Amino acid sequence: MPDGSGASAIEISNLRKTYAAQGRAAPKEALKGIDLSIRAGSIFGLLGPNGAGKSTLINILAGLVNKTAGKVIIWGFDQDVNPRQSRAAIGVMPQELNMDPFFTPRASLEVQAGLYGVPKSERWTDDLLELVGLTDQANAYARNLSGGMKRRLLLAKALVHRPHILVLDEPTAGVDITLREMLWTNVRHLNQAGMTIILTTHYLEEAEQMCDEIAIINHGALIVRQGTRELLARADGKTLVIDAGGPVDLPALPEGAHPEWRADGRLAISYPPSRIRADQLLDALRGGGVPIIDVASEQPDLEDVFVELTRG
Ligand code: ADP
Ligand code: MG
Repeated sequence: MPDGSGASAIEISNLRKTYAAQGRAAPKEALKGIDLSIRAGSIFGLLGPNGAGKSTLINILAGLVNKTAGKVIIWGFDQDVNPRQSRAAIGVMPQELNMDPFFTPRASLEVQAGLYGVPKSERWTDDLLELVGLTDQANAYARNLSGGMKRRLLLAKALVHRPHILVLDEPTAGVDITLREMLWTNVRHLNQAGMTIILTTHYLEEAEQMCDEIAIINHGALIVRQGTRELLARADGKTLVIDAGGPVDLPALPEGAHPEWRADGRLAISYPPSRIRADQLLDALRGGGVPIIDVASEQPDLEDVFVELTRG
């Protein structure tokens, strides 16, 4: 069982899911044999384009979708051998806003706690309402809550049984900035308190800032799984943008450097930082009599890496 010392919170091997044919729709192979381990204590980002299979994977972890084949071990418990223990270890905030319109937030949390067998004495309903900022709405019917409040409630519901692992499926899709900040503050605090966090997001900048490690899936297959920093470094390309006062003749540049004049009249030199240093480029330019009025450097971001890896 993981104790936070580098052990796995989740171990997935050869996970497959084929949704059965429906009407005229052919069967859909949504996951094509995924192997993935997620370190206890991390904030793990699961990224991929729409339809990649992210929600399918998460819903299998949550026990909401049955896998077709493969093995899922959650907090040391095989889902097929110890379904109760593996479910107890994980809390999921789903992508869909599915809730009973006639429950109040307080009642929802109590019912959820009941479902997970949390004894009355161990419930933390008031704290949870406070945590997600729903204290004032504790007794309002769910149908009267705004979309943002419903999302807050979903987060609180995922936490009733104090799971070791919190999974958030597109938690910030279409939410306003206040809610987004509330979510990330909570996620960071929960993680600092030892909770493993797994999230999917469309916002790559967010993943870049929040996640220690990232997996990208596309068409149901894992295409990369790396530390965020290593993943960014993988895009071995930087760009030096130089204002030379307008187009001038260029000297020979180190092999691997690609100069290009931009529409704004600036010179953009893309180069692999693993082989060329910026000062080598600047020396070559100066030596060739190119005036350097101003210099800027452009780094690849996760978006670049993502586009490159999911192309085609
Ligand atoms: P993501 O969350 O990455 O956008 P999903 O896991 O929701 O992707 O979907 C993966 C693929 O499986 C998509 O092609 C989707 O249309 C299909 N799919 C998802 N749920 C079902 C379902 N209940 N029945 C049939 N096909 C489904
Ligand atoms: Mg999804």
